[in-house]
Amino acid sequence: MSRTMLIAGNWKMNGLTADGKALAALVAAGSSEAGCDLLVCPPATLIGTVGAALAGSSVSLGAQDCHGAESGAHTGDVSAEMLADAGCGFVIVGHSERRADHGESDETVHAKAQAAHRAGLIAVICVGETEAERDAGQAEAVVAGQIGGSLPQNATAANTVIAYEPVWAIGTGRTPTAEDVQAMHSHMRATVAASHGGDFAGQVRLLYGGSVKPGNAAELMGLADVDGALVGGASLVAEDFLAIATHCP
Ligand code: PEP
Repeated sequence: MSRTMLIAGNWKMNGLTADGKALAALVAAGSSEAGCDLLVCPPATLIGTVGAALAGSSVSLGAQDCHGAESGAHTGDVSAEMLADAGCGFVIVGHSERRADHGESDETVHAKAQAAHRAGLIAVICVGETEAERDAGQAEAVVAGQIGGSLPQNATAANTVIAYEPVWAIGTGRTPTAEDVQAMHSHMRATVAASHGGDFAGQVRLLYGGSVKPGNAAELMGLADVDGALVGGASLVAEDFLAIATHCP
């Protein structure tokens, strides 16, 4: 089963209007060289600006979070419907920084993924173990548990992407070995095959995230069960983000 690779940039809480506009314009200008799908997820304040800068290019626009409800008394939150209305096609849910900083549980992430689907967005559901969990030999069990708790039962490969992001590899410059990444992705595919069936497992895109850079992208993107990357720091430099995309097989 061939899956189109996806390189997604998570800009996190970075960028003012001029920066976002310039970065998006550079990504859009270089996107025709990429042999894969490209996605950028700016902070909520820049969705309109970045959407305008990407117009006419093949680069997709996404957000970094959404609320589970469609509307209501949730001060400071943004709904999936609002993101769709603002031009987004994707939304990241369950990033480990939100799980840690905002105490988001698998149940919360599940509700956010369902909200994304309700609004017609593709949910990028993030999972990944802490260093202590890996050291304790629990990485596969933790990730399987997060998938079980966060992935809606009616998710499809068309409306869902799953990103494996070991917490200890995010922003640290450290990555698991290629063997460990492949082993985890294979385990993730087996996990979703058991819960969602073989067709879903064969078609769903599994991204790796955690210190992906131009220098390690070829090895990571060449792994059989890796269908792209969720990129944090390197997505803030258009040249690096685009260079990662050139390593899609
Ligand atoms: C991320 O936070 O999604 C991420 C992968 O960050 P970095 O690439 O900086 O490790």
